[in-house]
Amino acid sequence: MPGGPPTNASGNPQPLGGNEMPRFAGITTFMRLPGQSDPVDLDVAVFGVPFDLGTSNRPGARFGPRGIREESVMIRPYNMATRAAPFDSLRIDDLGDIATNAFNKDDSVARIEAYVDELMAHDLATVALGGDHTIVLPVLRALAKKHGPLGLVHVDAHTDINDDMFGEKIAHGTPFRRAVEEGLLDGDRVVQVGVRGTGYAADDFDWSREQGFRVVQVEECWHKSLTPLMDEVREKVSGGPVYISFDIDGLDPAYAPGTGTLETGGLTSAQGIEIIRGCWGLDIVGCDLVEVAPIYDVSGMTSRVASDLVYEMLCVLPGVERRGD
Ligand code: MN
Ligand code: MN
Repeated sequence: MPGGPPTNASGNPQPLGGNEMPRFAGITTFMRLPGQSDPVDLDVAVFGVPFDLGTSNRPGARFGPRGIREESVMIRPYNMATRAAPFDSLRIDDLGDIATNAFNKDDSVARIEAYVDELMAHDLATVALGGDHTIVLPVLRALAKKHGPLGLVHVDAHTDINDDMFGEKIAHGTPFRRAVEEGLLDGDRVVQVGVRGTGYAADDFDWSREQGFRVVQVEECWHKSLTPLMDEVREKVSGGPVYISFDIDGLDPAYAPGTGTLETGGLTSAQGIEIIRGCWGLDIVGCDLVEVAPIYDVSGMTSRVASDLVYEMLCVLPGVERRGD
């Protein structure tokens, strides 16, 4: 644009405001950030991972990054509940999408890891817009090379710890089994929240517990605030670097129908926000929001809540100041 991309006095990239350009206009980067930064200048790199070759049921998460960006145009910079000021505090920008290979799952996984490896040459946190949940494995591989084994806050209807799916070791239902095997996670600092539904065996969730994970089945979340639970979660995952992985199917299909593998009786969108806000104070080195498939969505509602959850992630990253604190 004339005059260059919007920045504040500190040079931090800023979301384009609705009084400068109508919210329905312009190029749809995440939150209408400039999208022109070099990673060397950033504290936080947002990027899309348009990939769904690891999906077991309905495909379409390859359109997730675009859907999330499109519905993020409404988001304003300040968090009215927590007073977080992410764009005053940190240099955050949208780097665009990883060039996945739509004809090859395993090549795509390698490309994702290589991309995040390059980002890890810089001192920044990663925010990945999925993509199906397969993408967390190459991201964790790259982050663990730099940070060592990670703690994990994993929100999902599913534990994603299958040994294989249809014989494939890498798919959207296997990433956390692989991550444990590869030493990418510190099992005693892992929490899985919102898991539910039916299994292949009655003890399916016990593999997670045997790794030291705290598994919070959704019934433990029904009809209540999750703020008390998050006290326990912070205690469990603290003591080292932490990753947040949020599968949108952790929310109930009533809030997030635009996804591939729906399960009844899920979290509310308010509980999703409580979980992320409850991560405040942790040493978060990366986050993702995965499994948004806009082609099954209703009026963009799934992408809308997903974009707000990504914003809430930005608000709890280390270094974000809260106005009035
Ligand atoms: Mn998942
Ligand atoms: Mn899931």
